[in-house]
Amino acid sequence: MNPFTYGRAEDAAAAVREVSSAAGARFIAGGTNLLDLMKEHVERPARLIDINRLPLREIRRTADGGLEIGALVTNADVAYDAEVERSYPLLSRAILAGASAQLRNMATTGGNLLQRTRCSYFYDAATPCNKREPGSGCPAIGGYNRYHAILGHSESCIATHPSDMCVALAALGAVVRVTGTGGERSIPFAEFHRLPGDRPELDTTLAPCELITAVILPAAGFPEHHAYLKVRDRTSYAFALISVAAALEVDGGKVAEARIALGGVAHKPWRDLDAEAILRGKEPTRGNFAEAAGAILRDARGFEHNGFKIELARRTVVRALAEAAGEALQ
Ligand SMILES: Cc1cc2nc3c(=O)[nH]c(=O)nc-3n(C[C@H](O)[C@H](O)[C@H](O)COP(=O)(O)OP(=O)(O)OC[C@H]3O[C@@H](n4cnc5c(N)ncnc54)[C@H](O)[C@@H]3O)c2cc1C
Ligand code: SF4
Repeated sequence: MNPFTYGRAEDAAAAVREVSSAAGARFIAGGTNLLDLMKEHVERPARLIDINRLPLREIRRTADGGLEIGALVTNADVAYDAEVERSYPLLSRAILAGASAQLRNMATTGGNLLQRTRCSYFYDAATPCNKREPGSGCPAIGGYNRYHAILGHSESCIATHPSDMCVALAALGAVVRVTGTGGERSIPFAEFHRLPGDRPELDTTLAPCELITAVILPAAGFPEHHAYLKVRDRTSYAFALISVAAALEVDGGKVAEARIALGGVAHKPWRDLDAEAILRGKEPTRGNFAEAAGAILRDARGFEHNGFKIELARRTVVRALAEAAGEALQ
């Protein structure tokens, strides 16, 4: 572990001020990802600003019927919140598919959004990695890439975003509220995480020193027709090879609204608006679900060890949509 100093902030403005005034300072919330990365010498913050005293632990209804989840609400408290279970069960299911009970008790909403890739080369400080050390190369492209991306990758990086919660948030169309030295702003979920391009070291569009204060869910939570499927090598403590969040609104035997987001396939949770449009106005049939899945995977490209994920993703999308449709399936 490298030496660092530690401080606690009492409110959001102080936290932002502290992080922006000390070079190499970082926020720490649950610490379940940041401390691991510090122990592996991947992250070397000079100063940690503990944000656990900030008043960001509430879940409350918004004026337009949505839900605001404070950035410090733990993953367990989100998953078992009565409003979330009733109105956004897709989110509960996705969170409970991730990590372990102990980790979910520590991990926070803001930290989950900012957890870093699980690419093993990124974690191994003895190897090059463009995400860890820009310009050093990407050994995963010609190396062991079973868990890597099949969509949206670049010549610089083929890593995947590891979060389960974020896949559900992408499908639900969440908005991330942040505050920084320039004031507050809201970032639509689709614009929050980045594809790697030639800057894979940047995971998100957050500006330096910006603090996540909340995640806002719109009113539509798809409680009737939803599914979260996670395909992984082991049933616990394993990140997704492929995960799919599917949500449908079915009216008069037709799909009125569809949401499909995938995890484990790209540098960001992958929501496909074109595939969702294919389903709108159509009957909820396996044939139509297969057409939507085909559209999502049309441009997919695998590598030596992960080509199988293309067909796996296709099948998982169809199965998730069929499970979401339930009795409405025709
Ligand atoms: C063994 C293991 C298995 C796991 N399995 C899964 C899994 O299957 N699925 C899954 O989704 N996750 C999994 N996780 C990851 C876990 O969910 C994340 O580590 C956790 O969500 C991170 O939250 P945290 O509060 O601990 O973040 P921290 O470690 O405190 O912080 C992570 C990053 O976010 C920044 N940060 C934290 N809060 C804020 C904020 N409010 N504003 C701005 N920046 C902030 C920190 O500076 C840091 O860069 C696993 C983790 C472990 C260790
Ligand atoms: S895939 Fe990305 S994170 Fe993994 S080694 Fe390549 S550059 Fe690094």
